[in-house]
Amino acid sequence: MGLTGIQILGKLPKKNCKECGFPTCMAFAMKVAAGQAEIAACPYVDPTVVEEIAEATAPPIRTVKLGSGEFTYSLGGETCLFRHEKRFENPPLIGTFITTKMVDEEINRRLELYKQLKWDRVGITLQPDVIWIKGEGDPQRVGFLVERVRKELPYLPIILSGSKEEVEKGVSLCGEFKPLIYGINKETLEEFLPLGESFKVPLGIGASSLDELAELSDKALQRGFKDLVLDPGSQSVRELFEDLVIIRRSAIKKRYKPFGFPVITFPFRYTEDYLLESAIASILVAKYASIIILSDLKAESLFNLLVERMNIFTDPQKPLVVEEGIYPVNGPDEMSPVIITCNFALTYFIVNGEVEGSRVPTWLLIKNTDGLSVLTAWAAGKFGADSIAEFIKKCGIEGKVKHRKLSIPGLLASIKGELEEELPDWEIIVGPREATGLPAFLRKVSAEIKEAV
Ligand code: SF4
Repeated sequence: MGLTGIQILGKLPKKNCKECGFPTCMAFAMKVAAGQAEIAACPYVDPTVVEEIAEATAPPIRTVKLGSGEFTYSLGGETCLFRHEKRFENPPLIGTFITTKMVDEEINRRLELYKQLKWDRVGITLQPDVIWIKGEGDPQRVGFLVERVRKELPYLPIILSGSKEEVEKGVSLCGEFKPLIYGINKETLEEFLPLGESFKVPLGIGASSLDELAELSDKALQRGFKDLVLDPGSQSVRELFEDLVIIRRSAIKKRYKPFGFPVITFPFRYTEDYLLESAIASILVAKYASIIILSDLKAESLFNLLVERMNIFTDPQKPLVVEEGIYPVNGPDEMSPVIITCNFALTYFIVNGEVEGSRVPTWLLIKNTDGLSVLTAWAAGKFGADSIAEFIKKCGIEGKVKHRKLSIPGLLASIKGELEEELPDWEIIVGPREATGLPAFLRKVSAEIKEAV
């Protein structure tokens, strides 16, 4: 059981000095209990108490970190079984593998895919974000591949497997950038534990049954080694699904420590059909993989998995928002129409899709409305004439176009007059009420702008 805020408060020095960033020790204790602050932020707590509280307030699925600095990736850290209970914390890393026996052409092709397969969605870059370098008896080549990946894809977390020499070579070349050492089983645990301890990198342990996995995990825990990633080694998709649910339930409901770790999965173990593999991966995104290794990277399924991942791992208590700013669509110039809408992601996707489909070069202005839709934002005072005018003046659109015609959503027709008063240099045009009307509307406005010049 975790500690309550009052229990944590009892262990604090109660100076109310604010050095932790909170106004009082009480406020700090409540945040620590809720998992929203680190106990180490109070410089006056004894290190043994810090460890005790950190352990008691740690999430039931331990957070394991790969990479370093700005490219640090967290796995696990989960606290619930279902997303609607709170939220899922750390999205699974998705990628594929290269091996020391692969020919150079195939390795080049795969690394090239990592560079090419990138999509921008609501200001977030979606891309494959992990690679497994599989040693098959050639430490020098493992070293070569690690150096290549670190140089060409410096953001990409690495999973290393192979003999002790191969792994040692690879880990030493990663330096500060923590890889995951994978492929450890009951025969090799004793051999690899010291490696994990000395390099301070997480270990991926696998077994042929959950009982064996619990035994191995427990053994590592007894040794004081806590950065583990589990591979249940399930024999079928059904077994894998059941194993992942058992692992998550045992960790969260029973606080069963040997299963309180992120899980690595390989959907290609269960099929040679890439479409089926993608379907299995899509289940694993929701329940409960922390790493998903695919047999290959194919845009048509990878994109869907990454979008699914983005949606599952958003906070259901916060609306999905798009960053405020000017979005050029279809290569606009100084004579292109200017339209404005709110930053609710769904509105953005619909409007952007219609504008793109119209093929009319357009400046799409997105105003921050805290994720509220057009009418709700207007009712909440976040999308009124005054705030739109303020945004138009400061966003920089006046330097990008020669004309002064601003189109507002049809639902905001009532603020036209007020907005014209706020923006006397601009002609305010009321757009369609539905986004489906945008293509015809934009063609008309575009023609009018050109005629007027
Ligand atoms: Fe209290 Fe420590 Fe925060 Fe100071 S730094 S207010 S003593 S919790």
